[in-house]
Parts: sequence; structure tokens; C-alpha cells
Amino acid sequence: MFNLVIFGPPGAGKGTQSEKIIDKYKLVHLSTGDMFRSHISNDTELGKRVKEILADGRLVPDSITIDMLEEEVKNNPEAEGFIFDGFPRTVPQAEALDAFLEGKGSKVDLVLQLDVDQNVIKERIAERQKVSGRADDDAVKLLKRIDEYFDKTIHVLPYYQEQGKVTTLNGVGKIDDIFEAICGAIDEKH
Ligand code: AMP
Repeated sequence: MFNLVIFGPPGAGKGTQSEKIIDKYKLVHLSTGDMFRSHISNDTELGKRVKEILADGRLVPDSITIDMLEEEVKNNPEAEGFIFDGFPRTVPQAEALDAFLEGKGSKVDLVLQLDVDQNVIKERIAERQKVSGRADDDAVKLLKRIDEYFDKTIHVLPYYQEQGKVTTLNGVGKIDDIFEAICGAIDEKH
């Protein structure tokens, strides 16, 4: 089993690169943002609870997020490994993931950090919003999401750095060039 955390601010290219990684490495892509959006569009109980939070660009409470993520992992018993995209976003989430994987005799093998400048993020998300129409991609909500990233999520990095698991890659450039660098980092550990 090979488990990868893809890490970076909103607009770093986590979703785009995850799609390419799953094709090549046959991992299951688990994006907590996609899961929440699917709950919201299906109007589930969970969707109703988190709708406002997502619309505001705030983080969903850890307990809700962790339970949902673990459920999805359990729904994929045949998986050869996972890409965790947008999770963990807080240190308690990272601790919960470690404990959960350990219980399955597994672990996080690699944390890929996509390093992207704040100005590039803002430009990319403005472009994405034209296509995605995501309410939380508007300029005000985006600032909130960037705040949440630098306030809470960034602390996840030292947590994994202490475990010697982080590889940092430049997330600016051609999609295929970034992907090649990602493959290099994965192949070293795979
Ligand atoms: P994303 O698609 O990863 O940008 O996530 C969209 C939104 O979903 C975030 O702004 C949060 O409101 C929520 N979300 C996604 N993943 C998490 C997480 N791991 N912890 C808390 N909230 C999350």
C-alpha cells in the first residue's frame, strides 16, 4: 500500500496533479473538498451541516471531516493506496490519519508539497472560477481560504517534516513538467 498526501494552498494544482497521479499509479483519489461538494449537491444531512461553512471559505470541524474521510477509506478496501487531497488540513486531522492508517497496518509514505506564490494562487483561482462557478472561489472567500491555510493548515507541514516525509516541489510551471517532478519524488519512495 502506498499513501500520498498532496499538500498546498488553494489553487496549488492539487486536484489537477492528483488526476494525473491516479492514472499512473492506480491510487484512489480522496478529496475532502469534492466529498463535501458532493454531499451539498445531493442535499444530504452532512451537506446541510457544512454548506454555509464551505460557502464562507472556513474549515469544516475536524470531527466531521475525519469521520467522512475514514468512511471513504473503508469504502475502498481493495485500494492499493490513496492520494489524500485537501486532507489533512489541521494537525489533529494529521494525527487522526496517522492513527487510523496505523490501525490498518499502513502509514503516510510521502507528503508532496506544491509550493506556489500567493499572487499566482489568486490568478489561478480567478481563472478557475470562470469555469467552476465555485462560490468559494470569489475574491473575498478566497482570501478567507488563504487565511485558513496560513493560520491552520501550514502547521501540518512541520508535523510531517519531523517524520522526514515532506518533499517540496515548485508548483508553478507547465502541468506536465510539475507532474514529471512529482513522479520522480514518488518513484524514490514507491
Ligand atoms: P478544497 O476543494 O480542498 O479547496 O476544499 C473546499 C472547502 O471544503 C474548504 O474551503 C473547506 O471549507 C472544506 N474542506 C475541505 N477539506 C477540508 C478539511 N480537510 N478540513 C476542513 N475543511 C475542509
